[in-house]
Amino acid sequence: MKSKKVIVIGAGFSGLTAAAVLAKGGFDVTVLEKNQTPGGRARKFSGNGFTFDMGPSWYWMPDVFEKYFAQFNKVPADYYQLKRLDPSYRFYFGKNQVVDMPSTFSGIVDLFEKEEVGAGNKLIDFLKEAEYKYTVAMSKFVYKPGISMLEFVRPELLASVFRLQMFQSFDSHLKHHFKNARLRQMLEFPILFLGGTAKNTPAMYSLMNYGDIKLGTWYPVGGMYKVVEGMVELATSLGVKFVYNSPVDSLDVSNGEITSVNAQGKHYKASSVIASADYHYVEQNLLPEKYRSYPKKYWDSRVLSPSSLIFFLGIDKKLEGIEHHTLFFDEDLSEHSDAIYKNPSWPEKPSLYFSCTSKTDDTVAPDGMENLFVLIPVAPGLEDTEEIREKYFQIILNRFQLLTGQNISKNIVFKRSYAHIDFESDYNAFKGNAYGLANTLMQTAFLKPKMKSKKVSNLYFAGQLTAPGPGVPPALISGEMAAKLVMKDLGVGV
Ligand SMILES: Cc1cc2nc3c(=O)[nH]c(=O)nc-3n(C[C@H](O)[C@H](O)[C@H](O)COP(=O)(O)OP(=O)(O)OC[C@H]3O[C@@H](n4cnc5c(N)ncnc54)[C@H](O)[C@@H]3O)c2cc1C
Repeated sequence: MKSKKVIVIGAGFSGLTAAAVLAKGGFDVTVLEKNQTPGGRARKFSGNGFTFDMGPSWYWMPDVFEKYFAQFNKVPADYYQLKRLDPSYRFYFGKNQVVDMPSTFSGIVDLFEKEEVGAGNKLIDFLKEAEYKYTVAMSKFVYKPGISMLEFVRPELLASVFRLQMFQSFDSHLKHHFKNARLRQMLEFPILFLGGTAKNTPAMYSLMNYGDIKLGTWYPVGGMYKVVEGMVELATSLGVKFVYNSPVDSLDVSNGEITSVNAQGKHYKASSVIASADYHYVEQNLLPEKYRSYPKKYWDSRVLSPSSLIFFLGIDKKLEGIEHHTLFFDEDLSEHSDAIYKNPSWPEKPSLYFSCTSKTDDTVAPDGMENLFVLIPVAPGLEDTEEIREKYFQIILNRFQLLTGQNISKNIVFKRSYAHIDFESDYNAFKGNAYGLANTLMQTAFLKPKMKSKKVSNLYFAGQLTAPGPGVPPALISGEMAAKLVMKDLGVGV
């Protein structure tokens, strides 16, 4: 079996998963990664004593990580320690309008009831439906590669289509349950931050609320990068070889095998390739036109998830008024959503997200200081200049002062910004997208770009631009499914 060589392009979460699953199946796996370190969008960096996770900060759906490690007879605790956050996160709806999301379900029910009479019971109903969707999705279709519609034409799935609410919008689902706009925003934000609006996302995705509220918001001590390190350790122990600083520049698919040629001109031959780098880039830039499954106009018509403007800030004092996760929803969320999806433009009055992991973890900032990560989701493909970034930096400082009463402009001892141009140059991200494709109805399940090339029989795709979609848990699932497709096609027991 060791003669079956597989190349995985990219060492993000999906590539790491694909590599480990294949290595366990007896394959000889090499991962070619463009950057100097693994992790992809979940890399980390340090500066002036501050450590920052560069991408994901919300560890949701712990069951998916457990399931991943279990196939290797491991548990997450073999690699990293998890802490459940309490409160899970904080909202600002205006000055002195602070709402903390408790970690207990009874606490959340009480909170909803205080906001709107009767909303506590409605939340219980809402989450019962969400639990049903989560259970059906995880057991019946999230782990399906979406190669064919037939995977979904099964009696039990067809019977559940209406309960899954595929054809109802998340927005109308929320409005059906809650009158209070704040409550709706509290349930809507996971959708906005992971690539969709309440209006363009099917109500089925309330399964994410179940993941958030019932399964909890966790933090891997040391940061999200601890998960990457754990996965690299596991893959290495299974025999996976990693080659960093090795951007694949072209794929030669002409002779049955596939040869990945990197920027240094080195050739890597394999019987199969899993491309976990951004799908659009691989198809449009690495393959000759006749081997591409999708033309340029297909990609131009896709609804992409947002890009992001991010600031990594080192603050030389302890901050008040913010938690590990804090969301500033004091401005109109729907105007911000429209600026992402309807009329792509820089938002006039953005919503802001702050992650301050030094609130939970004293290893990520010097004593008495904080590492502050500030994120504004923005439309992909926008003009990205220093002047624009600086304009938003001032907006952030002003809003921070307005809502928390602290002027931090003189306390910033480290500053780095990150947006479209960086996503493109670091990850070959189409239009500088941060999170792949939006989870719209027309881009769900078998309607996503296929995990298996239609033109090259031994080329597969994984990651956030294919099934099941954006986010770390989906990336794990995607990598596993791609690996299993390779194994199935080669007749290796799955
Ligand atoms: C700012 C931000 C915040 C996020 N927040 C969260 C969150 O809180 N929770 C959550 O669950 N998800 C979050 N996400 C989404 C999540 O991080 C991603 O969906 C997931 O990490 C994507 O993994 P991937 O393997 O699909 O892609 P990537 O991580 O992008 O990995 C692809 C890899 O391919 C490499 N590559 C590209 N081109 C080449 C080439 N030519 N040759 C070789 N290698 C190449 C890249 O360098 C990269 O390492 C966030 C993402 C971002 C950007």
